[in-house]
Amino acid sequence: MPEIVEIEILRKESQQLLLGKQIEEAIVNKENILNMGGGEFSRLVKGAKFVNSRRKGKILILDLSNDFSVVIHFLLTGFMKIVDQCDKNKVQVGFLLSDGSCLYIGGIMRGGFVKLLKTSKVFEDESLKKLGIDAMSLDFTLEKFNRILAENGKKKIKQILMDQSLIAGIGNAYSDEILFVAGVRPDRKAATLTGEEAERIFKAIFEVFKESEKFGGESELSFVHLNGKKGEFQNHFKVHKREGRPCPRCGTPIHLIKVNGRSTYYCPNCQK
Ligand SMILES: [Zn+2]
Repeated sequence: MPEIVEIEILRKESQQLLLGKQIEEAIVNKENILNMGGGEFSRLVKGAKFVNSRRKGKILILDLSNDFSVVIHFLLTGFMKIVDQCDKNKVQVGFLLSDGSCLYIGGIMRGGFVKLLKTSKVFEDESLKKLGIDAMSLDFTLEKFNRILAENGKKKIKQILMDQSLIAGIGNAYSDEILFVAGVRPDRKAATLTGEEAERIFKAIFEVFKESEKFGGESELSFVHLNGKKGEFQNHFKVHKREGRPCPRCGTPIHLIKVNGRSTYYCPNCQK
């Protein structure tokens, strides 16, 4: 699914490719992912320009010139891209832009959304209010990470990394890769981690983000860049979705277990 790296790519690309473009017309084919009726949504965005793009965790925020913001949660299977010509049947929600191109939003399943919110009130929305610290924010320090571990000692480390109310942005694939890089078993309880292990996990978070950025993000399911191109990081996973295949470090077959109901992949030899 799109996780923090992919949404950050969309944020940056929106900043480059969408800013200043005006919405001629909105297309709404899937009203139930909106927070209002399709007619009202279309009326409110018509004529507005994109003026800024922001992100918190896995949620993308596109600010408009009329003091509204389009707030998008792609969930597992959502995507967003710009196409030269609009095919109105192919979108869940789309924006026909002044230069003739079209911003497509599609693939969003139940639980995901496209909301139109007052820009000044975006962070008061329940979906954003409940998020913990953003994993790419400068305030996310080793000290802060250690505090989160100390306050959640009984929880498993994989669960903590994925809990959006504690740390926003990391999902199933990235947490597997992070814990492999750190050499820590995903089912270890936070209270059992040494200071050195916690530091290794903290560093591994940014190492994995960087590696993914290098390959243009992860497109296992739905994510594409704004130009429609896929990322390649899924082809470079070391453990995620690699059950039974050799660990790239030691050759031991990768194990699959469940951690809090989520499929979790790790090397039983490299991860302690
Ligand atoms: Zn190994």
